[in-house]
Amino acid sequence: MRIEMPYEAEWIIEKIRSHGFEAFAVGGCVRDTLLGRKPGDWDITTSAKPEEVKQIFGKTVDTGLQHGTVTIIKNRKGYEVTTYRIDGEYHDGRHPDSVEFTSNLKEDLKRRDFTINAMAYSHETGIVDEFGGMEDLKNGVIRCVGLAHDRFTEDALRILRAIRFAAQLGFSIEKETYRAIGEIAPNLKKVSKERIQTEFTKLLLSDYPEKAVMADETGISPYVADGFGEVFDAEREWLTRTGACGAYGFEELKSLPAEKSVRWAGFLRHLPSGRIKQILKALKLDNETIDNATVMTAAAAVPFAPEKAEIRKQLSRMTDYQFDGCLLLKELNGEKTEEIRRLKKEITDDGDCVSLKGLAVGGADLLAAGIPQGKEFGEILSWMLSLVLEDPALNRKEILLEKLRERRDRQN
Ligand code: ATP
Ligand code: MG
Repeated sequence: MRIEMPYEAEWIIEKIRSHGFEAFAVGGCVRDTLLGRKPGDWDITTSAKPEEVKQIFGKTVDTGLQHGTVTIIKNRKGYEVTTYRIDGEYHDGRHPDSVEFTSNLKEDLKRRDFTINAMAYSHETGIVDEFGGMEDLKNGVIRCVGLAHDRFTEDALRILRAIRFAAQLGFSIEKETYRAIGEIAPNLKKVSKERIQTEFTKLLLSDYPEKAVMADETGISPYVADGFGEVFDAEREWLTRTGACGAYGFEELKSLPAEKSVRWAGFLRHLPSGRIKQILKALKLDNETIDNATVMTAAAAVPFAPEKAEIRKQLSRMTDYQFDGCLLLKELNGEKTEEIRRLKKEITDDGDCVSLKGLAVGGADLLAAGIPQGKEFGEILSWMLSLVLEDPALNRKEILLEKLRERRDRQN
């Protein structure tokens, strides 16, 4: 079988071979190509030691020399070339204490996590498949290389990788591998929250986000974050309540765009606001995502009256992106949003003011009107904005300043 690879990968493999060493494309790129998916990157594995790789190419970047990885830049793209290696003992449940180089490709494939990730390829040799990866690819199965229990004990991150790959590829997890996940779940305590989060985010952004229920079924959710199990309870409760009969939890997330904030918001949307924020923070999501997801879910939880004043008010409280995300969540919950969308479009087309930035009066106007700079400034501007949100026709400097004079007269 011949696999198409980028010219640069062919060139690197050929160059290493011409120096008398072995070299293959390996891992994700082989898996994805066989599945007809576009690989993210092409990793190369070789019998040449890092120093030898450096000598062959002259110009290289030391990316992970202690693990045997050297990056070759060709046509402005980076290709990681890693020496065949055997991982030493694992004591921290996450990293090998040491690595040892070997000249045996099979040894290198053996240290890899899943059979579908443990295949190598070169034009000369074809596919090297020592652990039944092709068969598992054909059957859509995630299976550990070797004994699942041992492999997850070595590195607990593999637990999340298994579920993440199942979600990205729409695969099932082989029985023994699945059982071992439940057994070794407590070891996830040894994995950093950032790593857990990156894997879970990939899962939510995938084509099969409903595979998230595996986190609950296998029993890993307590180790993902405090209160994470509640997400699944709330989803089940919602499915029952809305009578989405036969629907599998989280399948509805597929209709959301594959964007981080929106998918996290959709996933957590049945939980109380405080809980949502707590989980996102515990998982070390970035502030922008936390902000977007909390605003979207909070706004989606309250009904919007189909009136322009109300929609303008909502728009003033969030970004356009958050507003659109909020509508998507409302749709997931079965709310109709056509009328809201129509009104929002009118508001945008008419250029109605929905923020302090769009207000016809600014700080300088208040100063000129004799208002001393200070706390009152902000209050007055917010008050003016609230008038304008009710009635956009009021957004004119002379009108707003006149309203201000009336208000001050009343107050005196
Ligand atoms: P992706 O599309 O997410 O990049 P990938 O399979 O390329 O998928 P990487 O994390 O880039 O995944 O890793 C490259 C290869 O290294 C994997 O295919 C696998 O063979 C091996 N690998 C990565 N992480 C582990 C791990 N934690 N334990 C064992 N092998 C691993
Ligand atoms: Mg990769």
